[in-house]
Amino acid sequence: MLKKFQQEYATKNVQFILTDFEGTILESDQAFLAIKSNSHLIDIHPFFECFISIKDTLEDEIVFNCVHIVVDNNEYVTDIQFSKKDVGFLVVISDYTSHYIAYQAIAQTRNESIINGELITIKNAELEERERFKNLFIRNFSHELRNPLTSIISITKIISSTSLTSEQENMIQFLQESNANLKLLLEDILSISMISSGRLKLSENVFSLSQLFELITFTYNTKTASKGLSFEINIDKKAPDYVEGDRLRLYQVLTNLLDNALKYTNEGKITLNITFNQKRANKVNMRFEVLDSGIGISKDNFETIFESFTQLKTATENPGSGLGLSIVKGLLDLMNSEIKISSSIGEGSNFYFDISLKQPLQTSTKPILNTNKKSTKKSSKRKTDKKYRILLAEDDINVQTVLFKLLLNTGYFYIDLVNDGALVMEKLINDDYDLILMDINLPNVMGDEVTRLIRDFPFKNIKKIPIIGLTGYSFEDDFAGFKKAGMNAVIAKPFDDQDLIGLIFKHL
Ligand code: ADP
Repeated sequence: MLKKFQQEYATKNVQFILTDFEGTILESDQAFLAIKSNSHLIDIHPFFECFISIKDTLEDEIVFNCVHIVVDNNEYVTDIQFSKKDVGFLVVISDYTSHYIAYQAIAQTRNESIINGELITIKNAELEERERFKNLFIRNFSHELRNPLTSIISITKIISSTSLTSEQENMIQFLQESNANLKLLLEDILSISMISSGRLKLSENVFSLSQLFELITFTYNTKTASKGLSFEINIDKKAPDYVEGDRLRLYQVLTNLLDNALKYTNEGKITLNITFNQKRANKVNMRFEVLDSGIGISKDNFETIFESFTQLKTATENPGSGLGLSIVKGLLDLMNSEIKISSSIGEGSNFYFDISLKQPLQTSTKPILNTNKKSTKKSSKRKTDKKYRILLAEDDINVQTVLFKLLLNTGYFYIDLVNDGALVMEKLINDDYDLILMDINLPNVMGDEVTRLIRDFPFKNIKKIPIIGLTGYSFEDDFAGFKKAGMNAVIAKPFDDQDLIGLIFKHL
């Protein structure tokens, strides 16, 4: 019985053909190809043309794998074996069609998956490269913009303090607004590039929430009133007074949301609600909610509005860059929070998020209030009647002019100028200075490099001289690098006049 099945199995997929030495068929078992006796091998399929050379050269046997043959409209994928026998040749055709097709499919799938894998790697590398290039471009581009913007802002300020006709005053006011917008746009672009390149690090300082809310109340009472709107702020009594976190970035999130509410609301009011959610260990969780009675947003756009440079058609008459919400999203992401929205067209909007902030232990932590502005202003008061000698190392002629005017107008400084990094040391050796204002991007020797040379100098009076860096770069790790080179402080262009003067006095 078994033999019968074996026979069936054997004859189904293998065909045995016996030929004479010239290829004329003597016998065939007709397993799957119908072959006439006395016909020639070549009559089966043109593949057997190879027999002409085989018959003269073959000594023992030869196998051809994966031979495609079409016989009577049936396609077979076979292995064909020729063996030399006493009477002629034995030809064994093994039909492996299904085996080869399955194998081919597997191989193809495997190849495709290898190719897809490689494509993904290439695409990722390309995306990374594009992202890197974009961030580098933004960084350099914003750096290049900072020098002219510093000059424009400062010159506008200087002109505004001279006597002007009312028409000139209007023009100056317009110029100041445009400058402020440009400065803001530059900062937004930088924030986005810092967030997306992962270079933005949040700071952890103790700050007063109630002071932050006071500032917001004052600012948005004024802003909403000038647009004929009202502003309401509701602070949960359980909200703590002091928390630990990044005050500047929390303020940036709230003001971006409030500015949008203001921008897209023509009637009614804008509300900021702060509710206490819960307290766990030393962390408080609070909800911040910005509500407006403005134009609203349709549900279809709830995701797209958070993409960079996206603005809805409804917003075309409102100026903006489409960066505000993506900055909010990115910053909240860094704070382990998420921005949420509920809104519909014509019904106003509600942007809200829950955030956990550390509550400092009153006894052990002294609040470090972020009162930079105040402290610099205070320190900008003269310490003595002495006039100080400042060496200004700056190559941009506009920034030079502005700094000269700014510092000379105070009446506290003598200023010497060099516009090449290589000339700084020579100046220091020949003259005495109280402080150096050093641009980073100097020709020949960069500002941070000169600083390193100064700090390594053997004479104390030169080695210890205070150095304030001026830079168009405003990434925090750039600042850290410049300070590591030996600078006492670094200030980003465009800077506030009072901030710079305050900083100079702080280090004199
Ligand atoms: P923009 O600079 O255009 O305000 P944003 O990223 O801040 O950029 O906002 C993206 C878009 O989301 C806006 O252009 C506007 O269409 C829509 N949007 C944001 N906030 C509001 C709001 N409070 N009310 C209505 N639409 C808003």
